This record gives sequence, C-alpha cells and structure tokens, in this order.
Amino acid sequence: MHLSNRSRTNPPSGIRTMFALAANYPDAANLGVGEPNYATPEHIVERGVQALREGATKYTPNAGIAELRKALAAKLAAENAIPGTERNILVATGACETLMLCISSLLDPGDELLIPDPCWPNYLGQVHLAGGVAVPVRTYAEDAFHMRAKSIEEAITPRTKALLLNSPSNPTGAVLRREELSDIAEVIRRHDLAVISDEPYEHLLYDGRVHVSLASLPGMADRVLTVNSFSKTYAMTGWRVGFVHGPEESIASMTRLQENFSSCVNAAAQVACLAALDGPQDVVEKMRLGYQRRRDLLVKGLLSIPGVRCHMPEGAFYAFPDISAFGKSSEETARLLLEKAGVVTVPGNAFGAAGEGFLRLSFAASETTIETALERMRAFLTSLA
Ligand code: PMP
Repeated sequence: MHLSNRSRTNPPSGIRTMFALAANYPDAANLGVGEPNYATPEHIVERGVQALREGATKYTPNAGIAELRKALAAKLAAENAIPGTERNILVATGACETLMLCISSLLDPGDELLIPDPCWPNYLGQVHLAGGVAVPVRTYAEDAFHMRAKSIEEAITPRTKALLLNSPSNPTGAVLRREELSDIAEVIRRHDLAVISDEPYEHLLYDGRVHVSLASLPGMADRVLTVNSFSKTYAMTGWRVGFVHGPEESIASMTRLQENFSSCVNAAAQVACLAALDGPQDVVEKMRLGYQRRRDLLVKGLLSIPGVRCHMPEGAFYAFPDISAFGKSSEETARLLLEKAGVVTVPGNAFGAAGEGFLRLSFAASETTIETALERMRAFLTSLA
C-alpha cells in the first residue's frame, strides 16, 4: 500500500531500536527502559477499577473531565506557581500526545522549533510529523548539559516559533536553576517566542534541588505551554494520562485538535488520576528516595570503572556516562554491551549528535538489576581498555 512521505521519512526512535535488539537477550540486565519499576500505588488502582464498575466507560469531554481539570489547575497554582482555572488545562494521552498537540497547535509546515541536544528523541519525530523543523541547541557535558540562554539566542532565525525545554532532562538529568530560566525567559520575551516546557520529571530531584516552572516567571504564563504527566510521578506509564497548562486560546485550539487525535483520554484512567492528586503524596517521596539510592549506587559503580566519566544526574532517572575513552562509537559500545556483556543501555547518539560518546542508563530499574549490570559492564569495559 502507498505510504505517505511523512510516514516513510519519520525518524525511528533509537530507544525503540535498542529494545527490539534487546528482545533477543531475555537475560540481559535492562538499564534501557525509562519506566518506573514501581507499581502504581494501590489506592489509585482501586479508584480506577471502581470507576469502571461505576460506569466510567464512555467518552469524556475533549479536554478531559471537569473535576480533573479543576484539580490540575489547583495543583499547578499551588505547586508550580502557575495561576489558572480549568480553562487553562487540557488532559491528553500521556505527555506524548500532549506534546503532539502542543507542536501541532504551534507550528505550520517549515516553522522551526528549538530543541535541546541531546534530547528525548520523540520530539524529533513529532516535529517531523507536524511538518516543522527541529533545530538542535547544543548542550555540553562541562555544563552538566544545562541549556545556555546564549546558545538558544544564536539558534533563532526568522522561522523560529518556539523553544522546547525539558527540565529535569531525559537523557542528561540536568535541572535548570531559576537564574538560568530567567536568562532564557529574557531571550524568549525579546524574540517574542513561545515555549513548550516538558516537565514530567518535576518531582524526581536530588540533593535538595527545587523544580522551577518557566511559566511561573514574570511575563511568561502567556507564552508557555507547561506539559506534564502522571507517568513518572505516580508510576502510571501504562495509564497514559498527561496534561498541559496554557493560555485559554491555546487550550481551546488543542481541544479542537484533540477530537482528531483521540477524542479524549480513557475515562476510568482520568478518574484514577484524580485520586492520585487527591490522595496521599508520600508515595511520590518514597519513590524519589528509592531513585536517589539507585542513582548513587549506579554512578558510584560507573565511576569505579577505569575510563568511564559520569556527571551526577540532578534529576529524572538517567545517568549519562561518557564512554568515549574506549575508542568506540556509542552505538557500537551499546551493541557490544548487549551482545557480549548482557546489559541493555541506549546509545547517546539516539538523543542527538551531542550525545555521541555517551550512553544512557536508566536507574528506574531495581537495585539488583543495577548491581548485575555494573558487574557485567565492569568486566566487559575493563577487557576493552
Ligand atoms: N517527555 C519526556 C522527557 C519523557 O522522558 C517521556 C517518557 N519517556 C515523556 C515526555 C512521555 O511520557 P508519557 O507519555 O508517558 O506521559
């Protein structure tokens, strides 16, 4: 059958490519998956099941159920200092679809979106699907991959419509500080741009760091679409619920687009998410502490392997070690680690050109898996040196 140009040329995700290879190695220690190994907290699951029994089996409004949108507006006002009402909120199928809606509402064919390099590769596929152009803004290991306002400014052209920001970052763990965000906000205002701020790892912060939402800075609420998700905060990846806060006219536009994408999010999942927001929040902190222990275990282990360099991830659940000292490309190193050592990683170049020389290792895996992976990596990388 005929395949459209856009479908044929859509870039494959290097993460998924690695998973397809890894499927042939069922005993491999998997640090590839960016997914919590925790179960969704019981009270949330129970509410979802109950909602199904109570008849949450029908379509909901395009923008999501009113109670959830209201609760999200209250959460964003209280936790993120972003004021608004339910008219500023749209609920969509994971941050994934939410981002697709944001990109579709912002870009016309040929318009440019600035994206961090390295970044989560789905942004590239999504911009391509919308007919836009993703323009990488390089970040550097010596800055712990923090985005520089100056680099953003240098990448702006007359076709630039918006910037995509992701703090805490997948894959680098970079968490932008308020002063850095203020500098970025200044550039955005001066060039009259919009921003998609993708914040699904907002609660996964280490060593006392705090999350600052760009939309909370002076004059930014009208320019920023703040994207978030229940996936990471509440270990709910499979429920597929994300959301966005933005100016009313942007939300209204995305609400119309939503009819074409999926009409609405699974009804019972929306009710479960309301329970997640209304229920005890200590579950989030417990998981965060678990990730912090695993991060320390993984990074300490990596640093003890001669030749491996690794900055301490500030947030999210990924380490991004520099393996360039072994003289092989990221892709070859990842492939050899899988085939010869039985460890699943993702090559850094799957996240952009600036990721070459690095690997992404997820510490959302169990401590046992991390320990096994470290032992195998140590044995294999030492044999290469
Ligand atoms: N943004 C980033 C940076 C991510 O890492 C992910 C998931 N890996 C998403 C968005 C999408 O999350 P979800 O669709 O599960 O909400």
